[in-house]
Amino acid sequence: MNAPRGTYDVLPTETSKWQYIEGKIRDWCNRYQFQEIRTPIFEYTQLFQRGVGDTTDIVQKEMYTFTIHEDSLTLRPEGTASTVRAVIKHKLYAQPQPLKLYYMGPMFRYERPQAGRNRQFTQFGLEVLGTEHPSIDAEVIVFAYQLFSDLGLKNLKLDINSVGCPKCRKDHKEKMMQSLSLIRQDLCKDCDTRFEKNPLRILDCKNETCKELTKDAPMLINHLCEDCNDHYSKVKTYLQALQIPFNENPRLVRGLDYYTQTAFEIMEDSIGAMSTICGGGRYNGLVEQLGGPATPGIGFAIGLERLLLAMEAQKVEIPTMNHTDVYAVSLGQDADVICSQWVFELRNKGLSIEKDYLSRSMKAQLKAADRLKAKHVIIVGETELETRVAIIRNMETSEQQSIPFEKVVDYILGGIQ
Ligand code: ATP
Ligand code: MG
Repeated sequence: MNAPRGTYDVLPTETSKWQYIEGKIRDWCNRYQFQEIRTPIFEYTQLFQRGVGDTTDIVQKEMYTFTIHEDSLTLRPEGTASTVRAVIKHKLYAQPQPLKLYYMGPMFRYERPQAGRNRQFTQFGLEVLGTEHPSIDAEVIVFAYQLFSDLGLKNLKLDINSVGCPKCRKDHKEKMMQSLSLIRQDLCKDCDTRFEKNPLRILDCKNETCKELTKDAPMLINHLCEDCNDHYSKVKTYLQALQIPFNENPRLVRGLDYYTQTAFEIMEDSIGAMSTICGGGRYNGLVEQLGGPATPGIGFAIGLERLLLAMEAQKVEIPTMNHTDVYAVSLGQDADVICSQWVFELRNKGLSIEKDYLSRSMKAQLKAADRLKAKHVIIVGETELETRVAIIRNMETSEQQSIPFEKVVDYILGGIQ
C-alpha cells in the first residue's frame, strides 16, 4: 500500500544521512547554547490562526485541521507558534533572558507535493526570546551559515531585509494602497485579497505579472522609522564584521503576519525552484499576540528535506554512521552458544557486533562479515571448538591470531581500543 500523497518513508539506507545531519545540528545548538524544546504535534487550531496569521497561505490553505469531540485541532504547520505558546504557558519568560530554544521534528502542510515540497516534512528551528539586540539577529543568521558550511554546502545565497515595525508599516501601507490602487484589477487573485488585508505581502508575490506591475511600488525598506533603520544597519554591521556575504532584497517579506524588522532567507542554487532552505526573522509582536507579556523574539526554520536535497545535488559526501566492530562466525550449535556469550559481553562493553542467525556455511558467514566491513572476525569451527582456541582475524590487515577461549573478550577489547 502507498503512503499518503506528500509523505515518504525513510529507509535504513537513508536514516544514517538523517542521523548525521541531526547530529551536526545538535552539536551546533550546543556550541551556541540553544536548548531543545519539544511541543505536541497537534495544537488547538486557534493557536495557528492567531500565531501564524489569518491572511497567510498556511492558515488559509494548508492546515490539516480536524474536529474531535468538539475540539478543533490542527497538525502543527510550523514550530514558532507552539514554542511561544509553551513559553507563555510555563512562564519561561520569567527565566534569565534571552531564552535560546530549538526544535526539530515533523510539520504538516496541505500543499501540492513535488521535490522539496511535502505534506509531512521536517523542520529544525531556533527561537530566541527576550532581546532586541541586533547581534542576536546576526547570530541567528550566522548559525545557519556555520551549520551549512560544516555540512559541506557551498554557493549559498543570503537575502536580508527589514519589514519594520507596526509604526513604519502603517505609513507604508497607505503609500502602497495609493500606488497600487490603479493596477489592482491586474494583480493575481491572491494579491487582490492581500490588497485589503496585508498589502505588504504583494511585494512577495511569486507571480511574474505581479512582480512587474509592482516594480515601482514603494518599498518598505525606504520608509523605515529611525529605530528600525538603526537596528537594520547594526545587523548589517555584525554580518560584515563576520564576513558573511548578503544581498539586500527589498521584496523579501516573510509570509507570516507576526514578523517585524529583520527578515532573511538562505537559498541554494542547484535544487531548482524549491531552493529556500532556511527562512526566518524577528517577531517582536508574537508573544503579546498570544497572550504573554511583550517579549521580542527572532528565529529561523530550516527544511531538512531541502537541506538533504541540496547536499545530494552538491554531491556532498555524507559519512555513514553504521560500523561493525566484530562479526562472530561459528559452525554448529555448540560453537554458536560460545560465540553468543562473547557477543553479549562485547556488546555490554559498547562494541557493535553482528553474528550469523541462519546456520550458514563458514564461507557465507565470512562473506557477510566482509559486506559489513567488520573490523574483526571471531571464528569458531569444529577444530577451534575441540581445542578451545578461537581464530581472530583482523579484517584490515588480514592477520590471524589463535586466542584461547577465555582470552577472546580481552583480546578483542585490547585490539579495538
Ligand atoms: P515556500 O515559499 O517554499 O513555501 P515557506 O515560506 O512556506 O516556503 P517557511 O514557512 O518559512 O517556508 O518554512 C521554512 C522552511 O521550511 C522553508 O524554507 C523550507 O525549507 C521548509 N519548508 C516549508 N514548507 C515545506 C514543505 N511543504 N515541504 C518541505 N519543506 C518545506
Ligand atoms: Mg509555503
